[in-house]
Amino acid sequence: MKQNLLDFDAQQLTAWFAEQGEKPFRAKQVLRWIYKGGESDFDAMSDLAISLREKLKQTACIRTPTVMREETASDGTRKWLLDVGTGNAVETVYIPEESRGTLCVSTQAGCALDCAFCSTGKQGFNRNLSTAEIIGQVWWANHELGRSSDGNWPVTNVVLMGMGEPLLNFDNTVSALRLMLDDNAYGLSRRRVTVSTSGVVPAMDRLRDECPVALAISLHAPNDALRNVLVPINQKYPLRELMAACQRYLEKAPRDFVTFEYVMLAGVNDSVQDARELIELVREVPCKFNLIPFNPFPQAPYRRSDMQTVQRFRDVLMQADIVTTIRKVRGDDIAAACGQLAGQVQDKTKRTYWNMEVAQ
Ligand code: SAH
Ligand code: SF4
Repeated sequence: MKQNLLDFDAQQLTAWFAEQGEKPFRAKQVLRWIYKGGESDFDAMSDLAISLREKLKQTACIRTPTVMREETASDGTRKWLLDVGTGNAVETVYIPEESRGTLCVSTQAGCALDCAFCSTGKQGFNRNLSTAEIIGQVWWANHELGRSSDGNWPVTNVVLMGMGEPLLNFDNTVSALRLMLDDNAYGLSRRRVTVSTSGVVPAMDRLRDECPVALAISLHAPNDALRNVLVPINQKYPLRELMAACQRYLEKAPRDFVTFEYVMLAGVNDSVQDARELIELVREVPCKFNLIPFNPFPQAPYRRSDMQTVQRFRDVLMQADIVTTIRKVRGDDIAAACGQLAGQVQDKTKRTYWNMEVAQ
């Protein structure tokens, strides 16, 4: 089988070229063609000797996942459904803003962690994505959207907030992160790449040591009793340990704060008392809060808090000098908003559907 070069970060690609008897700078050239040039055709790599191009055509390929479907929302948000084999698919979402373009990338097909309010969690775990499938989402989005008039790629920021728990697919995620950061690939600054985790504490330490980028923590509850229910991995890594891990992370992080994501569930975690408890919880952790209006999905056991409640919650945090934003709901009309990504599933008749709702 041909080797997919998207599966390698710079170091791995250099090692692979060495195995083929090629010099390290060849790896650098190819990396630049693939990511800076957006090139997937070896024949177009004009500064490689023709014999090397021929050899690469025999042994290697540059292959992103296949796009099964794409949608554009009324606010310009784009969503791609990518085939990852055996009846599974993952989703990638591009969110255009005035001064940046953010790509929300998936790292697993499904997710094993089963958070109570998450549609990805409801479909269970299928498999880890390969490095090629993760970085391929960035490659594909840039390719589809095309360079801007100043010659830059449209994806300026990446958030690993699509389907799956990135820190439970650690190695492939880190290789993909390295490609996002590498000057010969996308060259994004560490501050523009964010890993979101539900709190896999040992892997947070590894990420800090191996590839520190901006960090978002899916907090969602001010105490262990509630978080054990909403984010079950809390039973393994409770809040005290999670807060300590955030502090350790900040020792080496590119930003001097972590972002706590907090999904607002009506009557569950959205009271003034909850906000006050949160302030105590995060007292020792430099942080910002991002309040996410709950995005409902079929059979979801929760409702979205009303805007007044969300604003009151924000005001309590702000009065304690915690910078707090309320996430705008983007791409709602194409089910591309946070937590709605469900990929594609098959029913017993093997018909396939865009989303989960019809496939129960
Ligand atoms: N597994 C990682 C990253 C993917 S989830 C994590 O949990 O952090 C990305 C974000 O969407 C998380 O903060 C998650 O809690 C949130 N989310 C999940 N379901 C949601 C929903 N239905 N409405 C709003 N946000 C949701
Ligand atoms: Fe997995 Fe994140 Fe969804 Fe929890 S919120 S089930 S960790 S994808």
